[in-house]
Amino acid sequence: METDRNHRIYLDHAATMRMKEEVLQEMLPYLRESYANPSAIYGFAGEAKRAVRLAREQAAALIGAKPTEIFFTGGGTESDNWALRSVAESYAERGKHIVVSAIEHHAVLHTCKYLEKQGYAVTYLPVDAEGKVLPETLEKAVRPDTVLVSIMAANNEIGTLEPLAQLSAIAHGQGALFHTDAVQAYGHIPLSVEELGIDLLSASGHKLGGPKGVGILYCRENLRLSPLLHGGAQERGRRAGTLNVPGIVGFGKAAALAGETLEQRMERECALRDHLIDSVLIKIPHSRLNGPKRDRLPGSAHFCFRDIEGESLLILLDQKGICASGGSACTSGASDPSHVLLAIGLSYEEARGSLRLTLSEENTLEELDRTVEAVREIVERLRGMKAGM
Ligand SMILES: *Cc1c(COP(=O)(O)O)cnc(C)c1O
Repeated sequence: METDRNHRIYLDHAATMRMKEEVLQEMLPYLRESYANPSAIYGFAGEAKRAVRLAREQAAALIGAKPTEIFFTGGGTESDNWALRSVAESYAERGKHIVVSAIEHHAVLHTCKYLEKQGYAVTYLPVDAEGKVLPETLEKAVRPDTVLVSIMAANNEIGTLEPLAQLSAIAHGQGALFHTDAVQAYGHIPLSVEELGIDLLSASGHKLGGPKGVGILYCRENLRLSPLLHGGAQERGRRAGTLNVPGIVGFGKAAALAGETLEQRMERECALRDHLIDSVLIKIPHSRLNGPKRDRLPGSAHFCFRDIEGESLLILLDQKGICASGGSACTSGASDPSHVLLAIGLSYEEARGSLRLTLSEENTLEELDRTVEAVREIVERLRGMKAGM
């Protein structure tokens, strides 16, 4: 089977995306002729300095923030680690209690495990059957010593959108700060830090058509933000090290493009996604959709198929040139069922037969129809083999 670039169907956009051509073009001068260190004093450094300034404005504009509230990082994982550790450290005298949801990305969950070892108490909030954090659950969990509530904007596995405005209001009611891992949401749905009451927000370049290895931490002005890296004075003394100018420029361009195209992209992706979901549920017996029908990321669909081993399904899809995933890219290969699927109440057995298909504006209806047909065929074959054993 031919699986070259032209025949490949890429449906793993939650894991990463192709970098946009316009982004690459914007970055190239800073990989070639404009190589100056933006911290330098001479005129030659001015180009790099101005490019970083523009990128910071672009990154801020997408969420209605001020450029001074944006700190460039090495990606979403770094931003999550930094946000949690900084608030825990800087506000420890107020209390040592943190609240997160049980379905956060491991960048948040494993940072919490680390903080627990440092003497912090962490509450992992349960979610409902669609993956939503219910405001009343948070209401019961926050305490006078809670310093931080961290709830993701959108789940990377099942696509659920969380009610951020309601949740941040509850956190603020107890005097706690509110962080959101918006890596899946930034550039994909409208986000306003003001309207949503967000104090800290993480985003990552490669999840919105920018380069890998660059991200942002938004931190509301006048909050204490402890340095992540000690050294030079870059990023207002909070993250030392020569700036990744090409990466930062790429991030800014990706954010600007995402802002310009947001509405039409959402419309197209939602239509493709709904077609995909309806086709799978109609054509494949004993299939279920995970996460809500409507209140989900525009490009995200996640299914479970009864009596199917998810890994076999992925391998056979790959042989047909279809790139998909079982859940998050970070856990594929591990045989443990996803913590997200267990949290929405699936059994180990149900959670094993999972398939995540995440699309972008680049995908076509025809690709989705071919994918559904391939999944149908493979599921039938695998069930037949199982029955024959
Ligand atoms: C991808 C992802 C991350 C990690 O971002 P990187 O830039 O790959 O480090 C964190 N959180 C969520 C929700 C993600 O989807």
